[in-house]
Amino acid sequence: MKRYQLFINNEWINPASGAWFESTEPYSGEAWAEVPRGGLADVELAVRAAHDALEAPAWRDLTATQRGALLRKLADLVSQNINVLAETEQRDNGKLIAEVSGQVQNVAQWFHYYAGLADKVQGAVVPINKTGVFNYVKHEPLGVVAAITPWNSPLALTVWKIAPALAAGNTMVIKPSEYTSSSLLELAALVKLAGFPPGVFNVITGFGAEVGEPLVSHPLVAKVAFTGGDAAGQKINEIAARDFKKVTLELGGKSANIVFDDADLDQAVMGAVAGIFGAAGQTCMAGSRLLVQRGIHDRFVAMLIDVASKAIVGDPAKMKTQVGPIATKAQFQKILDYIEIAKDGGAKCVLGGHALAGEGYGQGQFVAPTIFTGVTNDMRIAQEEVFGPVLSVIPFDDEADALRIANDTEFGLAAGVWTQSLHRAFHMSDRLKAGTVWVNNYRATSFTTPFGGYKRSGIGREGGVDAIKEYLQSKSVWITT
Ligand code: NAD
Repeated sequence: MKRYQLFINNEWINPASGAWFESTEPYSGEAWAEVPRGGLADVELAVRAAHDALEAPAWRDLTATQRGALLRKLADLVSQNINVLAETEQRDNGKLIAEVSGQVQNVAQWFHYYAGLADKVQGAVVPINKTGVFNYVKHEPLGVVAAITPWNSPLALTVWKIAPALAAGNTMVIKPSEYTSSSLLELAALVKLAGFPPGVFNVITGFGAEVGEPLVSHPLVAKVAFTGGDAAGQKINEIAARDFKKVTLELGGKSANIVFDDADLDQAVMGAVAGIFGAAGQTCMAGSRLLVQRGIHDRFVAMLIDVASKAIVGDPAKMKTQVGPIATKAQFQKILDYIEIAKDGGAKCVLGGHALAGEGYGQGQFVAPTIFTGVTNDMRIAQEEVFGPVLSVIPFDDEADALRIANDTEFGLAAGVWTQSLHRAFHMSDRLKAGTVWVNNYRATSFTTPFGGYKRSGIGREGGVDAIKEYLQSKSVWITT
């Protein structure tokens, strides 16, 4: 079995605890790697290394152009190692190999994009209403950035943080999810190979309470960039606030995917199915509430069942598979519990609603694509994040009704609108309380445009030109002339 080590100060070291835990393949149920169980002492070492690296000439004196060149080299190394990174991630979390390979290619693009931005961050000369003084504003890195990330897209979601943070000149300590640590450790090897100086990039694996919390509360950490559930996000936000640390929080969602009666229904049904059953529903942006205009409700539900029931569920290593296993046992159980909650709440299960086991389902961490109708927006199944292949269909009357239902949630990550009316597309996009709105498509993302949440879906944005500012602070300099 492969045994990993922690990555601190460009060195591979054993955890102070002397303990490792196993990473298990969701499909085969077999433990395939041993991951170091980091703790307080490792956090201390890594944060010190990251802090020292900030002042070390090897990093401090690099020009922004030189930082960009390092990131470009890293992007090339990622491109040359797509297979290793994708296979590692697939073993850890059971993602479809086709999906994870695409995500790793995207990782390289994120590095290229922020490599290009590194030397395009410009300050300003500011006119002051006074003679004899000169004022300019420059942007400086924040310092040590702690990144804490989840298991559903481990590399991709961490690179959303790494690329802008390093481009801006910060140093980092990263804690990946305890379920999916391996791909980040593989990436660390490439970071070293690319030539990043010691201490700039550190990875401590382990659990939230043992590594995550000490990292967030460490006095030398300047910013916490977190992706995960809203419960952990709230706790992290509270701890960070005690020391006035900056945060980026990318949290959960309960996104509404809204189908109007003037939509291209063939297109909409494919978007609705991909929106919830892609990645077996284990995405923050899953279109888990499907709002369907009342006049087409029954017809559209029949179309949905037809398409979803043909989805190929099974071994994620096979290219033709469309829905893979659930990544962790805990998540598997949580999804099954929510299916019962929906039934108990009065929703009608019209597809799936059970686990899948037997031939073709490995060790059986599979949930059948599940559709509930007769859902009202006040039910728990419509309000709480399931993070699995479970769709709640809710009828609506008109635009106002759709907006009322869509916005009646504590989350605000994303929304979808299916219509052929341009006016309706603008009208709905303006009024939906969500950080991303997709019209006649669903789940598109790009490194060039911001992603993030309204309300309890988070704070701050990742992606696009402005995201680099999440890792910079402004300094106003006054000089008497
Ligand atoms: P999680 O909140 O349980 O864990 C996320 C990370 O936080 C893990 O590394 C975990 O070890 C760590 N952690 C947990 N408690 C902590 C604490 N008290 N202090 C510090 N660190 C702590 O989330 P998860 O189950 O790994 O991921 C699923 C969640 O992530 C879902 O809610 C999903 O919506 C969200 N998510 C959001 C986005 C987005 O961009 N908005 C993207 C993907 C996933």
